[in-house]
Amino acid sequence: MTEIRDLLLSRIRDVADYPEPGVMFKDITPLLADPAAFTALTDALAEIAERSGATKVVGLEARGFILGAPVAVRAGLGFVPVRKAGKLPGATLAQAYDLEYGSAEIEIHAEDLTAEDRVLIVDDVLATGGTAEASVQLIRRAGAEVAGLAVLMELGFLHGRTRLEPALGGAPLEAL
Ligand code: AMP
Repeated sequence: MTEIRDLLLSRIRDVADYPEPGVMFKDITPLLADPAAFTALTDALAEIAERSGATKVVGLEARGFILGAPVAVRAGLGFVPVRKAGKLPGATLAQAYDLEYGSAEIEIHAEDLTAEDRVLIVDDVLATGGTAEASVQLIRRAGAEVAGLAVLMELGFLHGRTRLEPALGGAPLEAL
């Protein structure tokens, strides 16, 4: 596991002051471009998905799509996108949440989840936890159960885990 962690870490590029001053952006495109690293990441996330007993993977726009879709295929599960408002054509559930300045809204196709589903949420970076917390709320409102949250990286200094734990209600949060 330490070997995989080192491989993944070596393929994440820190970009200072992007997209705005003061932010250290974690760029995963070098990791995606490296087949050994991308496969190792997919396998590790798929193992979490299998262990969680999930029936579906929910990926968060946009990098959660890139990571979540191969995980769903590898684990033999369905994939459901959570998108920014206004992008899904069918009947949606919407959830607004606060950003540092202003607010954002995400949506899911209501019919893609049922009461029988257990959902693993997948994203690249857990920062403040706002997006993930809103996704948990969407999944519950769609009637499904949250099996857990799996991310490549957690930015510990933003305390997303502390914010999310009450929302997750005991479901595991795993950061590779
Ligand atoms: P948050 O809602 O604050 O947890 O932000 C999570 C979303 O923003 C994730 O979908 C990440 O892809 C993205 N994000 C936040 N901070 C960073 C960062 N420093 N580097 C890369 N992506 C980030």
